[in-house]
Amino acid sequence: MAELAEPEKIEAILRELAPASDCQGGSLTQEAALLCERGWLRACLPKRRGGEGWGCEPAGTRDAFNALRTLGRANLSVARLFEGHMNAVKLITLYGNEESAREVADAINAGMLLGVWGADDPAEPLAFVQRDGMLRLAGAKCFASGLGLVGRAVITATTPTGQQLLFVSADEPERCDYSAWSMGGMRATQSGRYDFTGVEVGDDALIGASGDYQREPYFEGGIWRYCAAHLGAAEALYHAMLAQLTDRGRADDPNQQRRIVASAIAIESARLWLLRAADEVEASGAEAAKATLSLLAREATEDACRLVMEHAERALGMAAHGENSFVHRMIRDLRLFLCQAKPDAKRGTAAATLTSMAARPEQL
Ligand SMILES: Cc1cc2nc3c(=O)[nH]c(=O)nc-3n(C[C@H](O)[C@H](O)[C@H](O)COP(=O)(O)OP(=O)(O)OC[C@H]3O[C@@H](n4cnc5c(N)ncnc54)[C@H](O)[C@@H]3O)c2cc1C
Repeated sequence: MAELAEPEKIEAILRELAPASDCQGGSLTQEAALLCERGWLRACLPKRRGGEGWGCEPAGTRDAFNALRTLGRANLSVARLFEGHMNAVKLITLYGNEESAREVADAINAGMLLGVWGADDPAEPLAFVQRDGMLRLAGAKCFASGLGLVGRAVITATTPTGQQLLFVSADEPERCDYSAWSMGGMRATQSGRYDFTGVEVGDDALIGASGDYQREPYFEGGIWRYCAAHLGAAEALYHAMLAQLTDRGRADDPNQQRRIVASAIAIESARLWLLRAADEVEASGAEAAKATLSLLAREATEDACRLVMEHAERALGMAAHGENSFVHRMIRDLRLFLCQAKPDAKRGTAAATLTSMAARPEQL
């Protein structure tokens, strides 16, 4: 067998580890250590901080896209955590000052995984009071991916003038509520509730100005990153379908050929949409309106993922439903991950832009 390239080796290792963490309370400790050891956590830093600019510099866009796809092909939960890490670095690079950028680089060089926790506990949304150079936090985050693994997180607090970003420690075990995540998919992400009530930090934890978080083209525009992970999962399902049909001698059945071709076209169409969105959103000086490309690419990716899942299930029959099978886990994970986040609202925003501009996508 030919020697595997580094991303392929990482994909193979993560794929082998995946079944062990696919359970309530499953942990991705080994996976996070691997990404650290192989330099993938550090690669998300800007070049001048020792990274490769993955996701935070135009020259690192294609590598970031391929890394997220690679992880999606192996284990979507790992891809979810890695995307959060990449997003945290990006937000600090965009809106943080020199000191916070140095802190992030030091933390990552010491092996830390970062996250972005935006979703509030509806009953106790995150808020803070600022006094004498200190911030006192109250409230909790829900769907917080990577509980117990993420060392520090970029979190949001709603203020009268918009969402304010803060960069805070997120590693106190007694603040984690793992029971808040009882999903049938993405189990290994450990995306539970983290209670910040009573936490006190210096006001240097504030990142940028209120409203920065939702600034375009990086807020909605940045969804190309998790879509790249979704696409990776669809690619893995496509490969599994080809391999199993070939093994069973059914790949030349015209019914299966129709599914193979339709799935191939779907994943390649989504890949081309996402590449364009990523390249244009991450180009230096990109205009806010470029975010619409990511919204349309998300729609194309979701449609492609749903088509490939449907065809893989029909092509493989019961084999697609084996409880511990690769295909079954991938489909469970992908169906849940596609819920992130507010897909109807995203489609609505894209439609409103297309209508108001009376534009074809190529004109965006
Ligand atoms: C695996 C996974 C990991 C996650 N990790 C994190 C994390 O680390 N940090 C974090 O902050 N969040 C995380 N999230 C949560 C995510 O950001 C969203 O908060 C979450 O997906 C909410 O989804 P929902 O389906 O419960 O609700 P909703 O978003 O309410 O969606 C339910 C339905 O309502 C529709 N809808 C919702 N709002 C609107 C609207 N304004 N207009 C029109 N239609 C609307 C949606 O399109 C959808 O059809 C994660 C989610 C998943 C699935």
